[in-house]
Order: sequence, then structure tokens, then C-alpha cells
Amino acid sequence: MNNFNFSTVGKINSCFKEKFTIPRQPGLVPAATAELILLDNYSIPEIVRGLEGFSHIWIIFAFHAVPIGQWKPTVRPPRLGGNQRTGVFATRSTHRPNPIGLSVVRLSDIKISEGQVSLVLDGCDLLDGTPVLDIKPYIPYVDSISDASGGFADTPPNAKYKVCFTLQAARECELSSIRLARDVEELIRQILALDPRPSYHSAQQGDRIYATHLCDFNLRWRYLADDIVEVIELSIKE
Ligand code: SAM
Repeated sequence: MNNFNFSTVGKINSCFKEKFTIPRQPGLVPAATAELILLDNYSIPEIVRGLEGFSHIWIIFAFHAVPIGQWKPTVRPPRLGGNQRTGVFATRSTHRPNPIGLSVVRLSDIKISEGQVSLVLDGCDLLDGTPVLDIKPYIPYVDSISDASGGFADTPPNAKYKVCFTLQAARECELSSIRLARDVEELIRQILALDPRPSYHSAQQGDRIYATHLCDFNLRWRYLADDIVEVIELSIKE
């Protein structure tokens, strides 16, 4: 019994359409909402009976967007600046022997309509399309350990940047917020304040323009002096 087969119980519908800018842990970007849509045989109302009493849940998922079989016993965690190696089992790296992820997220709603069950989640660190293997309730008396120590990740990462918008980007944020019925400006502020760049980019400023696919638009921004990020534009993806 050394090999197991698991089936996907649900799929994540998230604002993060590519890996760049996904926060490194859940809860860091509270505005990053996602919907977990239960699939086929698992999309039955009874399967979530009682879950409404829990504010948070654990999502156990597959890192489907990492190449299979490329893990190494040691990795370079971004929290250590990206140049110090630690054992993979001492990290939350995506490159692991079994590419399984674990995220605790706020459960803000359970939707049941016409046989389709979905969970609305806040503060996700999940790529769009992530296959979910299991869902478990977060149980405070067992899952919250007040005297736990966090190794090299003992404190949360600081928000490093102030985020400003060009006039064009501010207008596009307003239009996107109406179109998507969510606060797009706040989502972008929370994501960029954390500085999603790999650590070897962080010393650079100025002329380099960064881009990512978020929700249904392409976001472009750049770094200015004095820890300021300027959002240049949001253009709807074709
Ligand atoms: N909270 C989870 C854990 O501890 O297992 C994930 C932590 S991992 C460091 C977070 C990163 O996983 C994100 O920044 C994103 O780049 C990546 N990621 C999220 N969903 C993914 C997926 N489905 N496939 C590959 N990488 C993913």
C-alpha cells in the first residue's frame, strides 16, 4: 500500500490566472476571493451539511502547474532571500515529492443551486483551475497552537510598497470593479504591496514593466523610488 489514487473533488475558480503575483500563503491577500466548485458525484448538498458552522476550512489540493518529478531534497525558500538551502520538508515549496498543497482559508459562503455546490473562499493562494483533493473544517482547539514556533518563517511578510495608480489605471479599476462586482483596486493594492517579485528582482527599479493576468484583465505596473509601485494599466484580456 505505497501508492494511492485520489480523485479531484472540486476545482478552484480564482482571480489568479498565472502563478506570478499569487501570495506565498493564504490570508496575506484577504481580497483574493475564489470559488471552489464541487464536481460530479461530490456536488451534492449533503456533502457540505454542517460546514456552515465553520468560519475557516483547510483545502488540500494538487500543485497541478508544477512539472512532475522535478523535486529536490533541498530548496531555496524566498523567505531566506532565495539563496540559502533548506530541506524541502522544512518548507511549503511547491516542488515536493508529492505535489500536495495545504491552505487554510475563510469560508465566506456556501452556494447550492440546481444541484451545483460551491464554496466561496477569501484570502486564497491558489491558481485558477487548481484541483482540490479534500476539504476539512478548521477546528480552532486543535489547529491553533498558541506556543508554536515558526522556524525561519516566524513572522508574516511585511507589506513593502505603497501602491499608486495612474489616472488611466484608476479609471480602469472603477470599470473593472463594476464589471466584476468586486473591489479590484483593493485586490491590486493588497497583491502589489507585498511585492510578488522573486527576491533577485527586488533591488531593481524604474524602467522594467511587470505584467500578469488577473481576473479577466492584464495588469501592468512598475517600481518607482521610495518603495512606491505605480499601476500603469488594466487591459481586458482578449
Ligand atoms: N499554502 C500552500 C501550502 O502551504 O501548501 C501553498 C504554499 S505555496 C508556497 C504558494 C504558491 O503556490 C503560490 O505563490 C503559487 O505560486 C503556487 N501555486 C498555487 N496554486 C498552484 C497550483 N495549482 N500549481 C502550482 N503552483 C501553485
